[in-house]
Amino acid sequence: MTSSLPSCCICNENKRFLARVNAGKKLYCIQCEAKISKEYGTDYWKPCSFTEFFESMSKEINSNRKKRGSGNWSLLKEQLQQIDEERQLQKEKGQ
Ligand SMILES: [Zn+2]
Repeated sequence: MTSSLPSCCICNENKRFLARVNAGKKLYCIQCEAKISKEYGTDYWKPCSFTEFFESMSKEINSNRKKRGSGNWSLLKEQLQQIDEERQLQKEKGQ
């Protein structure tokens, strides 16, 4: 079995069922998608800059993954909270 299967952009695991959210560039496994929807609501799956933010975030996670090996979800959660705060600030400024 070679790794020709697509992999989840969050946990990098090869899964049979991956969902395309937003622009369809990124694939999410059901577990990661459910976690995000549960924690942050479906607003996070809206278009806008979410794809970009995830691209930069997954790079960061990948570099952390090499150092720490696991525990990526808490890191992801922290970063989602940061993004959320930044979004709030931008809203307050009046876009
Ligand atoms: Zn995943």
